[in-house]
Amino acid sequence: MSDLISLYNTNAVDALRRELALDPHLVHRLRTVFWKKFAGSEAALEELPLHAREVFAERVQFHPLELDVRRDSAEDGATKLVFRTAADQRIESVLLRAGTGRTALCISSQVGCAANCDFCATGKMGFFANLNAGEMLDQVVQANEQIRGEDRTVRNIVLMGMGEPFHNEENVYEVLDTLTAGRGFNHPASRILISTVGIPEAMLRCGRRYPSVNLALSLHSVRQEVRERIIPLAKKHPVDELRQAIVELNAIQPATVMIEYLMLAGVNDSLEDAAELAGYLESLRVHVNLIPYNPIEGAPQLESSPREVRDAFADHLKAAGLTTTIRYSMGADIEAACGQLVQQLERKRKAQTAR
Ligand code: SAH
Repeated sequence: MSDLISLYNTNAVDALRRELALDPHLVHRLRTVFWKKFAGSEAALEELPLHAREVFAERVQFHPLELDVRRDSAEDGATKLVFRTAADQRIESVLLRAGTGRTALCISSQVGCAANCDFCATGKMGFFANLNAGEMLDQVVQANEQIRGEDRTVRNIVLMGMGEPFHNEENVYEVLDTLTAGRGFNHPASRILISTVGIPEAMLRCGRRYPSVNLALSLHSVRQEVRERIIPLAKKHPVDELRQAIVELNAIQPATVMIEYLMLAGVNDSLEDAAELAGYLESLRVHVNLIPYNPIEGAPQLESSPREVRDAFADHLKAAGLTTTIRYSMGADIEAACGQLVQQLERKRKAQTAR
């Protein structure tokens, strides 16, 4: 199997094309059917003359990932897709169908994560591997193939699944290049969002290279000591450096920076916290997204802020002039929060092999 050529390995595909004396235009058409129409590999292969079709079918790997589990929410429009990598590791993507007809897809950038945030199921797994560009892009392709029959396509792509995108920076940039290229997926940069634990240098590199790609910062507290308690990496990247990064991003990016703020009872949800947050964000071009905490097994000490506390916090920010939304949580019944379903499946797998 390992001598298969990945469709994402441009040089190898091009070498095969030359070997078959194929017009480059035909391979471009194959990619269009596969990457822009999401019509699947069989339809894509029909773009090639018969002899080349057979060779491509045998030697080119279209899907670096294998779909393992699809789970549809019974309550709302969320679908969770669990994939297996070639190294037999599991990652997940979440499709979110909004009532407006728009569809968003949350993809993973790593197997596990080294950031080890207190509240995050993926962090509890530890870090296993970086996903390569093909593995990230295949999540987009396979999700689109899943919803093709519903007459939907993925409109917004968010790198907010398992992993820290800026710990896998070069591969993420390769993904952005292929997604936005006219000869790639032709997906608008403004409909891509990268969520980060907060690595100022990487945020700026990304902002300079892809000014139209949206950035989200998982801030969760502007009190340095509180942030360090829930996000170990905060020690390396103090809140004042993060603020300076937002100032610089605001100067180069057309869009606002999203501030993600997880609401944890008694940790970061007081009105004083809201006042400090408002002070910190003053004069920045940002919008605040308050996130209800989805309880995870590995963090019994953490609890979600009650709704009235969340609403009061939001009201305080709005009164201070900040655009503030509360994230509508989807897919609670399918373990849709970052890393949750993979963890549950891994536990089952271990329990079965132990038996
Ligand atoms: N590493 C990146 C992207 C993955 S996490 C980052 O830190 O942003 C994506 C978002 O989900 C982050 O804002 C993260 O703080 C949030 N998140 C993690 N665990 C959560 C949980 N249990 N409930 C709600 N949101 C969670």
